[in-house]
Amino acid sequence: MNNFQAFSEAQELFPGGVNSPVRAFKSVGAAPPFIDRGEGGYIYDVEGKRYIDFVQSWGPLIAGHAHPKVIRAVSEAAKKGLSFGAPTLLETALAKKILEFYPFLEKLRFVSTGTEAVMTALRLARGVTGRDDILKFKGCYHGHSDCLLVEAGSGAATFGAPSSPGVPSDFAKHTLLCDYNDLAGAEAVFAKNGGKIACVVIEPIAGNMGFVPADREFLKGLRNLCDQHGSLLIFDEVMSGFRAGKMGACGIYAEITPDIVTFGKVIGGGMPAAALGGGAALMDALSPAGKIYQAGTLSGNPIAMAAGLATLEIIGSQADFYDILTARAETLMNGFAEAARSAGVALQTDFCGSMFGFFFTDKKARNFQDALASDTARFAKFHNEMLKRGVYLAPSQFETGFISIATTDDMIAETILAAKEAFKAVK
Ligand SMILES: *Cc1c(COP(=O)(O)O)cnc(C)c1O
Repeated sequence: MNNFQAFSEAQELFPGGVNSPVRAFKSVGAAPPFIDRGEGGYIYDVEGKRYIDFVQSWGPLIAGHAHPKVIRAVSEAAKKGLSFGAPTLLETALAKKILEFYPFLEKLRFVSTGTEAVMTALRLARGVTGRDDILKFKGCYHGHSDCLLVEAGSGAATFGAPSSPGVPSDFAKHTLLCDYNDLAGAEAVFAKNGGKIACVVIEPIAGNMGFVPADREFLKGLRNLCDQHGSLLIFDEVMSGFRAGKMGACGIYAEITPDIVTFGKVIGGGMPAAALGGGAALMDALSPAGKIYQAGTLSGNPIAMAAGLATLEIIGSQADFYDILTARAETLMNGFAEAARSAGVALQTDFCGSMFGFFFTDKKARNFQDALASDTARFAKFHNEMLKRGVYLAPSQFETGFISIATTDDMIAETILAAKEAFKAVK
């Protein structure tokens, strides 16, 4: 079966042929390759074509595809049974490992998806403050739960449906919005609604409107606003956690401590696991210690815990893990910048740890509006050119790219060579 046949068949079975929108490659006007397998830095489609993978399942696979240690851990756990719905030592082990990386957190709750993690974080913030409103930022994506699917970036941006039909306006009205990196805007919102805001939720390093890191002063300002008004600060590190660096964005902006951090992606190592964490007293407001209800049949699933634990052990076993990833991300982005310049194509590049991003525009993107100014038609062409040359990039201008430890220097060099030709082709 070839990719085209596979996609045609899938379109009969799934809305748009996929089970998560951006996979459909709609915004790059192509049919998606169907993936057969992955190995290290590569994926292979059903036609046997090999690609250097910079998507990595949208972030989780920081150890690369099918890392032997992860596969071994998962196989061993699977032999003992797939799920118990009862406490296991693997949950304890992964929780301890996460807290080694994020020592300011005291307790965690495991869930299965990032969506659930942020949804629960909001319920917790609302429950403990007794307030209904939340403040989020345009272009930040926090999963697809109702009150967060407002100006949500990423797939939502790509499909021109920033807020979705089916989200009751009664829910959406509790979601206050500001521009990313606009402290004055946030101050104005607090001045008007201060006593009603349960929490501020933010991607401290945004990866869902393309790659757009927050200004340090902006995050500091948000921390101050939350303190002044009795609101909680939630850092959504579902993507940036264990990606931007050893302590994610919390390490990059070390002087700013959020009240709740959400995790996903890397902590499941490619299996469904996510979490929220915070101080013990705050977290104990969740059931059954406290009154704020949350539950999950597969929460803390042993196979997912095993995959996450093995992945974090791989990270922890190499002191220069993030230095290696950062150096490769830097080489890649410098290579893109230089190739674009010599082709006469306007391009902005940026990176942090294992995350990178580039926009087809001549002005640095600091918020969603800037990101939207990027030339998406040119991006689509570039994406096609790269795919032809065996480089698998996220099929949208509003996504972040990822380096894994299995993405070798040779793969980076090959990608830069491909980009040189691709930039010329899209000029
Ligand atoms: C991916 C992501 C989510 C949602 O996680 P899912 O596992 O897809 O539900 C939430 N927040 C951020 C920042 C993300 O990148």
